[in-house]
Amino acid sequence: MTSSRAQWSFFPPPNPSPTRGEGSDGLQRPLRDLRISVTDRCNLRCSYCMPREVFGRDFVFLRRAELLSFEEITRVARQCIELGVRKIRLSGGEPLLRHSVERLVEMLAGLSDSGGKPIELAMTSNGVLLAKRARALKEAGLTRLNISLDALDDAVFRGLNGGSAPVTAVLEGIAEAQAVGLTPLKVNAVIRRGVNESEILPLVEHFRHTGITLRFIEYMDVGSTNGWRLDDVVTAQETLTRIDAEYPLRPVAPRYPGEVAKRWEFVDGGGEIGVIASVTQAFCHECSRLRLSVDGKLFTCLFAAEGDDLRGLLRAGEDDALLRQRIAAIWKRRTDRYSQLRLAQTEKPHEKIEMSYIGG
Ligand code: SAM
Ligand code: SF4
Ligand code: SF4
Repeated sequence: MTSSRAQWSFFPPPNPSPTRGEGSDGLQRPLRDLRISVTDRCNLRCSYCMPREVFGRDFVFLRRAELLSFEEITRVARQCIELGVRKIRLSGGEPLLRHSVERLVEMLAGLSDSGGKPIELAMTSNGVLLAKRARALKEAGLTRLNISLDALDDAVFRGLNGGSAPVTAVLEGIAEAQAVGLTPLKVNAVIRRGVNESEILPLVEHFRHTGITLRFIEYMDVGSTNGWRLDDVVTAQETLTRIDAEYPLRPVAPRYPGEVAKRWEFVDGGGEIGVIASVTQAFCHECSRLRLSVDGKLFTCLFAAEGDDLRGLLRAGEDDALLRQRIAAIWKRRTDRYSQLRLAQTEKPHEKIEMSYIGG
């Protein structure tokens, strides 16, 4: 590391806390983000998320009638916006596998807050089907897109995703998303020790000077099927050290309170990267995210064991006021802070719901 960097703290001071007050949860966190899983199916089988041994031919996915319809999703989203949500992200499973998801994007893009300001509407996709869909997504009103890509080397990429797709498909998707103006674009990579550590620098080199922000997410113990071990986590600090040795970095201030990714820029003007240190620098104290599962359950934490059913209410014909009251009550009693407890080694082992079901 260069001497100018020797005294760095790799992490800038904590973000200022989001606004507290009315509508906050049990730990004084406001509701700001809604993540919606639109399908539990995927065209890849990443071993850290949907390992083929578990999600094989015999795995029973949800039936169509069990999924929330676009109208039901939009109704829940509208109530969440009334309660403070300003950003919605569609995820899964692979969201582009949900038939006509562009129509859902269009419906959600029409929602605005009480001041008439449109909400931010984002999607996280593996990018495999993106080349043909990027234009329609943009036209439907998607404002942000994150693409997951853990390796550039085709053999490594296929090894990670169960061999179902070539890396060129994702790269073409990224190129098309840029071409149609689905920007600013982010590419997310999860690095596991001994698996794809060798891909850190190639990914950095590939996305420098492209206007795309590459972000490294620490490997997490989501779900109960990926056999997570702390030793397999390549920490954000380690990743930054490796990158900085080749391409010197300096920290960038957060854009808004509660920004999860810590931002860094290349000293030589090559652009920005980010790190999401979900394991080693838990950010539960500013977590403002609610999750809606494919079949209409609300989860207040990525590591929750149970959710609260909304589909029953929706299908029983309850009105919006009751729906809103129910969501508000769920948020109010929320005290989740799993990652902080994991860090302190005081959390109790429990069965966790799979990420593909509640939306990564
Ligand atoms: N299929 C889409 C995709 O891969 O972008 C959306 C769903 S996926 C569950 C969302 C994100 O979760 C991806 O960026 C993926 O890398 C990340 N993810 C899945 N399992 C993870 C784990 N165990 N630790 C950290 N990130 C994980
Ligand atoms: Fe599918 Fe995304 Fe999970 Fe990979 S991370 S298996 S692409 S849902
Ligand atoms: Fe939020 Fe739960 Fe993650 Fe903490 S562990 S940041 S509460 S989702």
